[in-house]
Amino acid sequence: MGSYILSLDAGTTSSRALLFDHKTNVVATAQKEFKQYYPKAGWVEHDAHEIFDTQLLVAKQVIEKSGISPSEISAIGITNQRETIVCWDKTTGQALYKAIVWQDRRTAEFCNQLKAKGKAELIRKKTGLVIDAYFSASKIRWMINNVKGVKEKLKNNTVCFGTIDTWLLFKLTEGKSFKTDATNASRTMLYNIHSDGWDQDLLELFEIPVSALPEVLNSSDHYGEATLLDNIPICALIGDQQSALFGQLCTTKGEVKNTYGTGCFMLLNTGKNAVESAHNLLTTVALKLENTITYALEGSVFVGGALIQWLRDELNIIENASDIEALAKSVEDSLGVCIVPAFTGLGAPYWSQETRGSILGLTRGSSKAHIARAALESIALQVNDLLSAMQKDLGESLSELKVDGGASANNLMMQMQADFCALHIIRAKNKETTAAGAAFLAGLKTGVYKSIEDLKQTIVPDRTFNPLMSEEQRTKKTNRWLNAVKATQSF
Ligand code: ADP
Repeated sequence: MGSYILSLDAGTTSSRALLFDHKTNVVATAQKEFKQYYPKAGWVEHDAHEIFDTQLLVAKQVIEKSGISPSEISAIGITNQRETIVCWDKTTGQALYKAIVWQDRRTAEFCNQLKAKGKAELIRKKTGLVIDAYFSASKIRWMINNVKGVKEKLKNNTVCFGTIDTWLLFKLTEGKSFKTDATNASRTMLYNIHSDGWDQDLLELFEIPVSALPEVLNSSDHYGEATLLDNIPICALIGDQQSALFGQLCTTKGEVKNTYGTGCFMLLNTGKNAVESAHNLLTTVALKLENTITYALEGSVFVGGALIQWLRDELNIIENASDIEALAKSVEDSLGVCIVPAFTGLGAPYWSQETRGSILGLTRGSSKAHIARAALESIALQVNDLLSAMQKDLGESLSELKVDGGASANNLMMQMQADFCALHIIRAKNKETTAAGAAFLAGLKTGVYKSIEDLKQTIVPDRTFNPLMSEEQRTKKTNRWLNAVKATQSF
């Protein structure tokens, strides 16, 4: 029985593989980017076979790099970009079309029609989601109606639809296993998060036969053997954000994490309660373990680290993203400059798709350093909006926020976060929290990790940031921000 876990992290731009040891250390990594296809304005596709090929390649590379024999690997865990959907032939394993990616907007019009028909409440009640092209259901419906041969194959029951976890599982087991986990299912808009199953009304609404959908299991479960990877058992499937939540060991109600990447993703564990949001947050499945569902509230900021990329690539005020910290630190405050980075609209709690970005409060004294500082503040203030909304929905105040992701390396921004939110910010030592979640779940299944409590003992944080700002200053800052958002929305 091996003591290593192989985590496959199937992201939006690259396939990654990480090998974890029994003490949760990452012993080797491998990564390969794959092509993004933009066939029309607003359309985003991936080649499903390229996703699988690169994933298999990096899995083999990481094993080779580590020098560890496959027999030493106890299990595989898979975490993946969510909502992206693949359609394939059950008998040949051939994709019938490119994967339609979560970012793809081709079904926006259909989603608007559903809203106009008054379906929003029904869908929110059953799935916890807002009607949007982002989720899988409308993409599946598009494939049925537009991809040649799919309707005929559906009649013969030879079509499979699946999210990326399901596609990789099917391919790795050479067609023996057609399954998904509840976190991935909860992002399709076809899955009832309360009754824990595919929902008949929604299947009818989107005209999708249940026979073409995978069986839904626990996030940590026996999914089959990867015959293409030395028969290593696959013991976990979980969507990427939920995996990061578990990787941060936010396993009890009230524990919350935020990932600072291109955008920001916050998930709050709400325990056995599927909390309905009054602030435009999504209600989603955090985890299904031993046939019990744990729920989460989820909110996202569309432009987080992407704002720093913009300052680097378009305004050229920094050379590397990490230079932003020193530049922002060179001034004491933003001198009244306020940025609302609504480049692609605003996410939760505003959900204003039409809003575009702004820089307010400029004076002759405003310098690039003030803009840099205002940029970091704007990321932290957007995250604070998510956290405030979550606390209101939960009806409790929280005392700490766990953080990870590339931009969480910025100490100044983490201090701002602690100040604006008035709570402790705990930064993970292991930057690979997404891959860790799937690895932990797989390792818990095979006994490499004894228990969640055991894992909590093993994991040590990197650094804690404590709030230092006065209440008066905090109120002034957040009120000014809310005014800036309002002004920007009305522009
Ligand atoms: P993703 O997974 O979305 O690609 P990462 O977790 O790799 O994102 O983080 C990269 C993002 O973080 C980029 O948008 C980059 O601009 C931003 N970033 C990287 N380093 C810093 C830093 N020191 N301060 C602020 N933002 C940063």
